[in-house]
Amino acid sequence: MIETEDLSKQFGETWAVDGVSLEVNPGQVLALLGQNGAGKTTIVRMLASLLTPTRGRARIAGFDVVQSPEKVRSSVGVLTEQHGLYLRMTGLEYLEYFGKIYRLDSTTCQKRSREWIEYFGLVEVAKRPIGQYSKGMRQKLALARTLIHEPPVLLLDEPTSAMDPESAQLVRNAITSLCTEQRTIIICTHNLVEAEMLANKIAIIYLGQILTSGTVEELKRSLLGPAEYEVRVGGNWPREILNLPAGVTPLAPSETGHRFRVEEPQTSNPILLKELMKGGAEVVALQELPRTLEQVYLAAMAKVKRA
Ligand code: ATP
Repeated sequence: MIETEDLSKQFGETWAVDGVSLEVNPGQVLALLGQNGAGKTTIVRMLASLLTPTRGRARIAGFDVVQSPEKVRSSVGVLTEQHGLYLRMTGLEYLEYFGKIYRLDSTTCQKRSREWIEYFGLVEVAKRPIGQYSKGMRQKLALARTLIHEPPVLLLDEPTSAMDPESAQLVRNAITSLCTEQRTIIICTHNLVEAEMLANKIAIIYLGQILTSGTVEELKRSLLGPAEYEVRVGGNWPREILNLPAGVTPLAPSETGHRFRVEEPQTSNPILLKELMKGGAEVVALQELPRTLEQVYLAAMAKVKRA
């Protein structure tokens, strides 16, 4: 649904995006992560045909962003940092206006506008000029606009910025339910907890290039190493575990239990458990130690800065 090859953009002397090749399939949510100025917004703007690439190509739903900008624009819903809201219009007028631009018939247009206004809790302000909306209300309205024509591709730059926690949750739920088998979503976010919740694929961008990409699990493994597990026992810890499975390395015990680094948990953990029981351990829990996307991101940044 989204394909780029060597996608690049130069502003003056600076390559804001430099050789980005990506493939995002229907049903996938890709989170673009990276420092301020890494090039995320520039990628999104090229994918939405709002900026022309200097080099390389990108296709959205089969349409080339340079050759078929109209088709691309009707296939994407794009939320950028500059919302481009018309401040004198009311929220409801604004959504209906965009519905018409996308050539929805007036019944569908009104129905969808009301539904999104209701979904985002904007009913009370729907007939007030947008100029009177708070930052979060504007963000919700802009998001409703990106969804009005039910596009197969959503490009969402910081979708929950400026939102209170309840509204942010509402938006995250909307993103999750919008990610059907027919739809592809890219989100740019600095909120790594949010990225981990929503995305099934991550790309970390650094100085306009993809530093690393993959599923959260793949990135955890490649940047943080094999998973670590903690075993808690009821009574005493066995004196020795005779046959520690291959690929299982004991680590220093913590206050809460004994820890192991496990290369292949699927195959090794059942054997480890059996061996522990054989040794007389009363196993209460065998738990993976949580590792966050934030740890992954910081490890990736530390690695590139060391290089
Ligand atoms: P942020 O997390 O702060 O939103 P970003 O990753 O989205 O950052 P971009 O906005 O894509 O980063 O910017 C990438 C680089 O391109 C930056 O160095 C920025 O200054 C530069 N840039 C972006 N737009 C323009 C422009 N219109 N003209 C000149 N330089 C630009």
